[in-house]
Amino acid sequence: MRTIYLIKYSEIGVKGKNRYVFEDALVRQIQKTMDRVEPDTYEVRRTQGRIFIDVPDDHIPPFDGDDEIKALQKVFGIAGICPVVSIEDTGFEDLGKAVVAYMQRTYGNEKHTFKVFARRARKDYPMESPEICVEVGAKIIESCPNLTVDVHDPEISVNVEVRERIFIYSKIIPGLGGMPIGTGGKAMLLLSGGIDSPVAGYMIAKRGVSLEAVYFHAPPYTSERAKQKVVDLAKKISIYTGPIKLHVINFTDIQLAIYEKCPHDELTIIMRRYMMRIAETIAKQTDCLGLVTGESIGQVASQTMKSLMCTNEVCDLPVYRPLIAFDKQDIVEVSEKIDTFETSILPFEDCCTIFVAKHPVTKPNVEVIRKHEKNLSDVIDALYEKALAEDEIIEVG
Ligand code: ATP
Ligand code: MG
Repeated sequence: MRTIYLIKYSEIGVKGKNRYVFEDALVRQIQKTMDRVEPDTYEVRRTQGRIFIDVPDDHIPPFDGDDEIKALQKVFGIAGICPVVSIEDTGFEDLGKAVVAYMQRTYGNEKHTFKVFARRARKDYPMESPEICVEVGAKIIESCPNLTVDVHDPEISVNVEVRERIFIYSKIIPGLGGMPIGTGGKAMLLLSGGIDSPVAGYMIAKRGVSLEAVYFHAPPYTSERAKQKVVDLAKKISIYTGPIKLHVINFTDIQLAIYEKCPHDELTIIMRRYMMRIAETIAKQTDCLGLVTGESIGQVASQTMKSLMCTNEVCDLPVYRPLIAFDKQDIVEVSEKIDTFETSILPFEDCCTIFVAKHPVTKPNVEVIRKHEKNLSDVIDALYEKALAEDEIIEVG
């Protein structure tokens, strides 16, 4: 007897050639994930349009697979994880016994209804599928008084698959869904230390997009601890998104110049425009196909539709804002689920809050903003170049 995992994935939208790209990426992600659980232990393979993970023989049932399952529940592209008992085909008598043992071990004395589903992938097996269903069902009833048959709406679907070996499984543990990382290109995430941007990164990555990230740091106004918090957040989301190259841009001089030369009620919006410009420059240099932010309409003054229009107009690349219509509470829920919340709420200063005006404009006029940005024209090019030249790259995950 041996344990394996059968991985179910949604095939919607992955027909034809795309399907192989999807499956190969998923197999790669699963292998990486399992190697993190225990190196050189698990073998991930794809046969007949299904993905299996072989677990070594000494990892015997009852499933001690908590670590494996928890790790697999963080892989985008998996719809469900089925822990499977795999036995050698030594005749129907043994098959029946194995199914009964499996049911007793898995459900104990719990009361449930069940139905057996049999599949014969190997046609030389001496019984046909309907016969296997009936016979296996009878054995379960005989030995498990707590289980009764319901062929219309069973609580438990007991699957028996006759292949080279025989597979027995009944549980489908839900996965995250989404698309495997790497199937959707790469985007540049503007990652701050707040609650929203890590969630935005997670969500875009769920569609198969891999990430680079940029953080605007303003020492000495923002501390090393604030920067470390962003590195920690990148680490947390990299469990889902795969490795992230984090660009730390020293933004202090640009911020000071804006502070000195532009109207204070426009500081945030002008600052945001420079963040977008710099992020886009790096994105273009690193083959990113878009920018990602954690903005949500109306959350703060710089996120009204007028303000968003104003920050948006400095970019040619598409700006993806997965949280645009989310309420804060919904964002918080995701951040708790992906375990970034506790880090995000640590009270380290943010470069936006230090230079923030008492009454920031909520309806910036693009023409006016452009005009005021001209105040920076004699210094900004040099500052912009310097900030990019001093890009500190931290590899995370
Ligand atoms: P968050 O919780 O993500 O920090 P927020 O509600 O604090 O968002 P803002 O500070 O207005 O909102 O920032 C809006 C978006 O701009 C952020 O979600 C993030 O994508 C980006 N951003 C803001 N500050 C920074 C920064 N210092 N470095 C990188 N990106 C930033
Ligand atoms: Mg913020």
